[in-house]
Amino acid sequence: MKTRKKLIRINKTTKITRPEIKNINNYRVIFIKSNSPLLSIQSYIFNGFIRETRDDVGVNHLLEHVLANAYKKCKKFNCFEYLTQLGIEYNASTSDNILNYYTFGLNSDVDKMLDYITKITVTPIFNNKLVNREKQAVHNEVLAWMDNSKYKLHNRVAKLFYNLEGLQYSLDAEQQIKNLKKFNSKNLQEYYSKNYNNNNTLFIVSGNYNKQKIIEGFKSRLSYKPKQEKIDYNNIKCFTNLKTTEFLKNEKLNGTQIYLSFPTRLKYNSKELIVLKLAKDVLNYYFFQILRIKNKLVYSTQLSLDVNVCGSSIDLYVNTKNENLLKVLKLLKYIINYYKKNKLSKEEIEPFKKQFLVKHHNTMLGPKGLANMYGKQYIYQHFLNTKILYPQTIKNIYTNITPKDIQESICKNFDFNKLVCVYSNKDKSVKFKF
Ligand SMILES: [Zn+2]
Repeated sequence: MKTRKKLIRINKTTKITRPEIKNINNYRVIFIKSNSPLLSIQSYIFNGFIRETRDDVGVNHLLEHVLANAYKKCKKFNCFEYLTQLGIEYNASTSDNILNYYTFGLNSDVDKMLDYITKITVTPIFNNKLVNREKQAVHNEVLAWMDNSKYKLHNRVAKLFYNLEGLQYSLDAEQQIKNLKKFNSKNLQEYYSKNYNNNNTLFIVSGNYNKQKIIEGFKSRLSYKPKQEKIDYNNIKCFTNLKTTEFLKNEKLNGTQIYLSFPTRLKYNSKELIVLKLAKDVLNYYFFQILRIKNKLVYSTQLSLDVNVCGSSIDLYVNTKNENLLKVLKLLKYIINYYKKNKLSKEEIEPFKKQFLVKHHNTMLGPKGLANMYGKQYIYQHFLNTKILYPQTIKNIYTNITPKDIQESICKNFDFNKLVCVYSNKDKSVKFKF
């Protein structure tokens, strides 16, 4: 007997349209239509640590906690319960210059997601009990960070690396706990009214939806106000560009922690930044090969990029035994210099391009991934006039990167004349210069 093969079509071919930007009552709304059964509605506000001072550092982080719950339909302002019971995924985050609120769920819950996101973003309810509850949550969150073994090291690097107070103190738990005590429902509302407006706020709707209905939904919830003033970030300078190698004594440590931070002026979404991303992956591979596999000096090597409105910083973290500190520092300098002088072959960078493609396909094609990607792109574009890059464009840039591009990127961006290096242990400093 012949068995008939049953083919199950799990999903139809994904169709995604290019984003469309609309002005609704002077708020910018980005639409990304796809045929997914899922929907993500988000808001982005261009603010964060960069706008804060020592005296109010942490205010946006606390506001993020408060706003995420400042919604009438959440009983006792418990939006965790309200949204979880609806099966809607949600969260919020605060970075150097972006606050993000998102929901992610089934298409059928579109109205609930739209109402929640717009109301917490433009008409949040400030309530004393809610503010006090979230002050406790932030306090505990900051305490956890303070007890992280890397706390002292990161905090010291931030102080040396940035020249803006908000960024210098963005990792300073002690200062943030002090400030927390000062915040209340009234002064938070004042800060919110002064700093969150239709010019630094953006909404994004990604998935399968009825566009007309969504537009009407926004219109009824976003009240019209004249376009508010835009802050000019084009000439902002956040980095000290200081060259230093510093020892930080920490009696609690059993080994040595090493942190390197290079500032660059590379802008979000620039071609040079994409090249640097690839260069970073390649270089981290060689750090690992040489430091861990060949010389048995470390457990892992963490090389990462952090992008904000001032540019991008390159951060490297490793830890090692105290007796190997000097050896590791010398090797780090040697490896970076080696790839400044020697060009890799085409074959050597190929695997990293493939790795990028895997990540790209895995994260960038769903409604949530697209909303995350375009939300950031459009809010940066508004303030810095940076480009909008479609997934295909990003892929093309990656594919065309040459070994020469990588070498030039390492030469230009891993600049020892601007390097902040802090190493920390309970022992003593070593004689070494980058
Ligand atoms: Zn938090």
